[in-house]
Amino acid sequence: MITTRFAPSPTGFLHIGGARTALFSFAYAKKNNGKFILRIEDTDTERSTQESVDSILNAMSWLGLSIDEGPYYQTKRMARYQFFIQKLLDHNLAYYCYCSKEELESMREEQKNRGQKPKYDRRCLYHPIKKDGVPPVVRFNNPESGVVSWNDLVKGSIQIDNKELDDLIIARSDGTPTYNFCVVIDDLDMKVTHVIRGDDHINNTPRQINILKSLGANIPVYAHIPMILRDDGQKMSKRKDAVSVMQYKEMGILPEALLNYLARLCWGHGDDEIFNLNQFIEWFDLSNVSNSPARFDVKKLLWVNSEHLKGKSNSELVKLITPFLEDRGIDITMQPQIAQVVNLVRNRADNLVSMANECVYFYQPLTHKEEEINKFLTPNAIDILNKFGDGLINIDWDLDNIKCYIKNFCSEHGLHMRDIGIPLRLKLCGTTQTPSLDSIVYLLGKNEVLKRIQRNL
Ligand code: GLU
Repeated sequence: MITTRFAPSPTGFLHIGGARTALFSFAYAKKNNGKFILRIEDTDTERSTQESVDSILNAMSWLGLSIDEGPYYQTKRMARYQFFIQKLLDHNLAYYCYCSKEELESMREEQKNRGQKPKYDRRCLYHPIKKDGVPPVVRFNNPESGVVSWNDLVKGSIQIDNKELDDLIIARSDGTPTYNFCVVIDDLDMKVTHVIRGDDHINNTPRQINILKSLGANIPVYAHIPMILRDDGQKMSKRKDAVSVMQYKEMGILPEALLNYLARLCWGHGDDEIFNLNQFIEWFDLSNVSNSPARFDVKKLLWVNSEHLKGKSNSELVKLITPFLEDRGIDITMQPQIAQVVNLVRNRADNLVSMANECVYFYQPLTHKEEEINKFLTPNAIDILNKFGDGLINIDWDLDNIKCYIKNFCSEHGLHMRDIGIPLRLKLCGTTQTPSLDSIVYLLGKNEVLKRIQRNL
């Protein structure tokens, strides 16, 4: 069975690079009727937190990337790692190393002076000298010759000379296993067939393959996905960029749009730009993943988001923007009916936050802006508004009547549309950027329109 895993370290929130790795691992498993595992790599106990675990789980559930197995926690698997360390020691595939920091440093210094690449010279393998009171580390006995090679599904064929590889420390002097070793044992125990991860891990792969080989294990297929960079080609930074998945939720991006965008960043299916998760699963293959770094472009993400918004019904949109409206203290059971308002503003927004913002003035008369608004109104504009209000009183409330009334009002008073449009929009909505005037007037209702026109004039 095809088995993939997503293996985040819980030292922060789920970032977009991690989400893309999770998406590809999830999709590859689903496409092949396989299994998608979540493994929490929490051996760095100083930096790992439960809060990070929760936020990663929360973000994955928001994205709809459901797991088939797990989450497994590395901290709960210590006995298993110890078992394999002992096994390697018993078979001389690993050895104790008593070298002190100072010893290792002077060894490296000498190597550098001789123009050699610094590397552990294996003195504790060849001439083990047990030092009393010095707790040893355990090093993996890496093959001395030959090459490690694998056919990376994204990067192509890769060969590394074993001479290049150090004898990796697999257990620290306090007995705790190190990162690369835990990953290997987990992938082995969890029967992972495809390791899909960021290409920042590519240097770990030959070391991990060697350990797997020494245990007689099957070697999984590897696929290393290129980094996501900023649109200027720089590395993304937590300080300057929105890198957390949940920041995009707060920005009013739909989870399906974020997944669509992340998928499309470094993978393609002909000219298809807009697709849902099921289509992606159907089309996805690791061999189509691009090998060069992807650049994150917020404008493109917003466009993808607006395309997904177009596919939503009014009632779906109401549900989606409700939390954003509630955050602004708006009770969506008030008049006018929220579904009608949404229908009016829906094409004006490429995200849920601005869609909610477009709804706000229907429910909040923006009185705090009143002084500012009135400053824009000339005596002539105030006169026009008053006359407009006077005539409105006798209208039968219907969209066509309102349309007609506005048109006739302009021709009767020799006005351009903007002469009434600008002051009226300002008084009703607090802004001149609004949907069509007749629809706003209609939805606000006669009383509210008259109230807003006359306020503080
Ligand atoms: N824990 C690693 C990370 O968060 C992933 C390791 C792996 O996928 O092998 O980057």
